[in-house]
Amino acid sequence: MNFDILLRKYAELIVKSGLSVKEGQIVCVSALIEAAPLTRLVAEAAYAAGAREVVVRWSDEAVQRLKYEHAPLSQFEEVPEWFSAYNNGYAAEGACFLTIDAADPDAMSGVDPKKASAWVKASHTACKPFYDGLDLAKNRWCIAAAPSPKWACKVFPGLPEEEAVSRLWAAILKAVRVEETGDPVAAWEEHHKSFQERIRTLNSLQLDRLHYQNSLGTDITIGMPEGHCWAGGGAETTDGVSFFPNMPTEEIFASPDRSRADGTVYSALPLNYHGSLIDRFWLRFAGGKVVDFGAETGYDVLKAILETDEGASHLGEVALVPARSPISEMGILFYNTLFDENAACHFAVGKGFAECLEGGLALSEEEQAARGLNDSAAHVDFMIGTPDLSITGYTKDGKAVPIFTDGNWAI
Ligand code: ZN
Repeated sequence: MNFDILLRKYAELIVKSGLSVKEGQIVCVSALIEAAPLTRLVAEAAYAAGAREVVVRWSDEAVQRLKYEHAPLSQFEEVPEWFSAYNNGYAAEGACFLTIDAADPDAMSGVDPKKASAWVKASHTACKPFYDGLDLAKNRWCIAAAPSPKWACKVFPGLPEEEAVSRLWAAILKAVRVEETGDPVAAWEEHHKSFQERIRTLNSLQLDRLHYQNSLGTDITIGMPEGHCWAGGGAETTDGVSFFPNMPTEEIFASPDRSRADGTVYSALPLNYHGSLIDRFWLRFAGGKVVDFGAETGYDVLKAILETDEGASHLGEVALVPARSPISEMGILFYNTLFDENAACHFAVGKGFAECLEGGLALSEEEQAARGLNDSAAHVDFMIGTPDLSITGYTKDGKAVPIFTDGNWAI
């Protein structure tokens, strides 16, 4: 099969299903220079879909790394005016936002981890209208991926660069259901529908808490807020346009009560955070807050994440992904959360999702907090699911409901 045809199908899928680009729309794309061929095809597809303008902001990890090595910490605590004007201005105009991820998992290894968390905090403050647009379902957005040679060689060590890149392309295209025959847009509509029944079941249970256990040592109970809603398989803006924030996606997720997590959770896969790896780590929670933690690799990076702000040491997300998901069955460790989070159950520390509370999108921040939703500039997913994970739900009257047994759905 002609790779160019597959790439074109992928670009059209991102535009039509991921972003749902409409007539007259502005499309903002943030891409690494390695992803230029896909980015150009996305721009072409977006104009064909009626986009008014496609604005691309390129970046280069080699130059970014130089900034992380040489610029002082204070430079990461300040956000230039053009940057917030760009994000907030286009969000106000109703633009949709695409990120094409091609990151080298080791791009920032060894740099001061305080710089990345300082930037996350500063940019979330300066670009609050932009982030509110995404979080409160006003603007559509999508994260998709394209291989870079460095990323591909990390995933497939020992292979020649060209072969590694083509193996990673094959894995990505498979994960996003782009095939020689068939219509990927229709395949994603089917995929979207496949989530609905489980989401309905989980929502009708209105579980009070979830108890996780596995042989790594994970033993943790997480409280769920009243009126919580599980979601997954795509999102919808408040004006009723559906889109897919993550391509691929295999998760069903909710936001827990920020003050009810007790016990210890162990990581199941390495975590790549802004180009630094954290591996073999654990977090101990009491009353919803991380009270102790450890990591064999990347302890300082984990520490910087948890210290981003007050909410960064509380949970914002619990997500259910079976051990037999299409992505885990590939048996590839991607070193990229967009993929790895769809291969295993995961949690996230940091910001919770307003859409995961009934009526949550219309609540003020104070009302969201009163309902138990966590708030933070950070939102960092980490994988905890193993093939022997069990999750038991408990209803308010104490009835046990098996949710996962041996790493897979029990409902
Ligand atoms: Zn997730």
